[in-house]
Amino acid sequence: MPTQTANKKIRLLLALRAAGITDTRVLAAIESVPRDTFVPEELKPQAWEDTALPIGCGQTISQPLVVATMTAALEPTDRDKVLEVGTGCGYQAAVLARLVRRVYTIERHKPLLQAAESRLETLGVRNVTAICGDGMAGWPAQAPFDKIIVTAAAHGEPPPVLLEQLKVGGHLVIPVGGQGEQVLRRYTKESAEGAFAVKGLLPVRFVPLLPDVAGD
Ligand code: SAH
Repeated sequence: MPTQTANKKIRLLLALRAAGITDTRVLAAIESVPRDTFVPEELKPQAWEDTALPIGCGQTISQPLVVATMTAALEPTDRDKVLEVGTGCGYQAAVLARLVRRVYTIERHKPLLQAAESRLETLGVRNVTAICGDGMAGWPAQAPFDKIIVTAAAHGEPPPVLLEQLKVGGHLVIPVGGQGEQVLRRYTKESAEGAFAVKGLLPVRFVPLLPDVAGD
């Protein structure tokens, strides 16, 4: 790896620690996934900066601090089966794939999904299964999930179907709110009847969670 990239990477990891990310497994996962592989050619010099970047189809790869916060909030274990809604470029899925047994991820833009799948294949990531679809419906054939992560913002509450597809004791991490005023929340399922503990984590800015498959 060129020295410059190594320095940028170290700087990012220090910034994440300083911002309160203490989970060493999460930090190691961020360190080992080459974020530059997931961004367009012209943005590669910025790949190790702590910022969101455009990835095409009007979508963005999340800021590393947000990826780290969401990943840590899931309390991932190597036995977990995880659902991700919003594959985007596949970066968050690749980070999770290092920490859990299997990731099922859904993206509504087919071109983004195809590019993500080919990156994951090139990187030799074998425990991610990706489909094009509407993640608001979850993935009934694979449910229930130990953990669920939604990387696009729900307007009010999380889609009820996703809460249903979560195992008791599991976490669902999701940004909630309208444009400009969103907060990251973690819902922990406390009973099969649907009691949830809710924790606010961080103010964030995500693209909206939209219904149906995109027409591109
Ligand atoms: N986790 C991604 C972040 C991508 S941005 C990454 O690491 O790059 C959020 C993504 O959610 C966008 O690609 C958007 O198209 C997708 N999305 C929005 N609503 C969706 C839905 N209902 N089902 C599936 N994907 C959705």
